[in-house]
Amino acid sequence: MKIIVAPSAGFCFGVKRAVNMALEAAEQCKPSEILNTLGPIIHNPQVVKSLEDKGVFSTDDIDKSRFDTILIRSHGVKAETMETLKSKGVKIIDATCPFVKKAQNYINTAALNGYFIIMVGDKNHPEVQSVISFAQKDRFLVINKVEDLKNVPLSEKIAVISQTTQDVNFYKNIVYEIKKIAKEDVVIFETICDATIDKQEESKVLASNVDVMIVVGGYNSANTNKLQNICKAIQPNTYHVETENELKAEWFVNAKSVGITAGASTPDWIIEKVLKKIQDMEENAVKR
Ligand code: SF4
Repeated sequence: MKIIVAPSAGFCFGVKRAVNMALEAAEQCKPSEILNTLGPIIHNPQVVKSLEDKGVFSTDDIDKSRFDTILIRSHGVKAETMETLKSKGVKIIDATCPFVKKAQNYINTAALNGYFIIMVGDKNHPEVQSVISFAQKDRFLVINKVEDLKNVPLSEKIAVISQTTQDVNFYKNIVYEIKKIAKEDVVIFETICDATIDKQEESKVLASNVDVMIVVGGYNSANTNKLQNICKAIQPNTYHVETENELKAEWFVNAKSVGITAGASTPDWIIEKVLKKIQDMEENAVKR
């Protein structure tokens, strides 16, 4: 059985950078200092646990928790949260991904120029909440389906922006629909990041050429779930696992080829364990 791992599988640039910044900060921290991340550093419980083992815990409540240093994860934070943190006088390590920062700046500028903002993404996702906080109050809409466009104020100038991990084709389709109905100026920001584009393209090609597709990543990871949907639409034998323990031998019966891809928050060591377990399953099946 041929097993192919997508070259872009696993940590993206922004996540790698944030995790390294957290590890570096943990090493430099004095024993008496408390270092927290604002929310789990990435959507992967195994990585969060390994940071906890090094004394880096996550907090969601900056008013109730006590910490000396706070690390902002790659998703960024709401503009007002950043202001509150600054007013507390704690040390801030800002690991916001530069692609997310760029999206925040685009929205800020568009809002200041009087544009109504439409953000295509999941309104509950921390990245979307951080980026959209740079729009002006009540002058934005977060949408994740074409039907939501009925709520767009058509008499306004509109700026359209995407969550960095959005499905490229879905975003193109939404932009097309907006341009069709808009009555005023429309500005489109291309904010899907390079890592997402590469991952989606490679996963599509891989899913088209294998008998079974395995997508590795946290069940709460938006970009992993998107990859799973993209692969499943091409290869129905697509399975999403968080670790090697969820793999089932029956998925690989009669399979001649298996593809493995992984979300932006999946560390290499989990991908390697998944690969090894599939190889072991194959060996065991041959011996029987
Ligand atoms: S997925 Fe893209 S935007 Fe998000 S952290 Fe990774 S590189 Fe940055």
